[in-house]
Amino acid sequence: MSFLVDLHTHTREASACASQSADELVSRALSVGLNGLAVTDHNRIDGALKAQRLGRRRGLAVFAGVEVQTEELGDILVYGVRRDFPDAPMSFRRLARTVEREGGVMFAAHPFRQQVHSGLWTYFEDVGFDWRRGMVLPELVRPLTGVEIYNGGCTPEENEAAAIFAGRFRLRGIAGSDAHGQWRVGWCATEFEYELRSDEELVEALRLGRFRVSRMQSEFDSDQERAVHLKAMHRLRGQELADYVENWMRRKQRRS
Ligand SMILES: [Zn+2]
Ligand SMILES: [Zn+2]
Repeated sequence: MSFLVDLHTHTREASACASQSADELVSRALSVGLNGLAVTDHNRIDGALKAQRLGRRRGLAVFAGVEVQTEELGDILVYGVRRDFPDAPMSFRRLARTVEREGGVMFAAHPFRQQVHSGLWTYFEDVGFDWRRGMVLPELVRPLTGVEIYNGGCTPEENEAAAIFAGRFRLRGIAGSDAHGQWRVGWCATEFEYELRSDEELVEALRLGRFRVSRMQSEFDSDQERAVHLKAMHRLRGQELADYVENWMRRKQRRS
């Protein structure tokens, strides 16, 4: 059995940059065929807790996460910790202590995304660490369980660098869409080997590496999306079909 989870999503309730409500996020996840998702709003947990309540009612596994901005390493995805974090960037060491104390795990989000001015790659530049040659990871980053190697907002090159990096240093690699709006939910997903029923089980599976990244390399982002797309193409007629196709093209262009 495989259990498909989008590990990086945002809700309007807690992320100013997101357009989808927790309710829309849960609906979209169900319609694209995900088994679960983790809500990882910026520094705040309330959107995740709301989505978790909705998921329980509607039969979707929702896990609570947070995307915490750190001074040194940029955005860090935290799972298994149910709390808010400061709005200003915090020290990574402090974050690591908190997460360890509360039994969570940390992954560097979009570690090689070039548009952001603070991330794993900028830290490596700052300390002069050439990750393609170096053998030993800088001490600061060692508390990370892994990194995102497939992020819906990154270019293929950025994701590829992350995958090579993770392989080189034996870090775990996860996938998440980083969806701020409904159209991207489920673009990237992590495929677990078994069903996960709680935040504790998610944390354990992430630690043990009982998952792989689900790679769907086509103009469709998943088999489910392909199914939804084909159904729409089949069902719609006339102007509705024209509008749908135009929308679809725009979405695909925005992605590339
Ligand atoms: Zn981010
Ligand atoms: Zn994000």
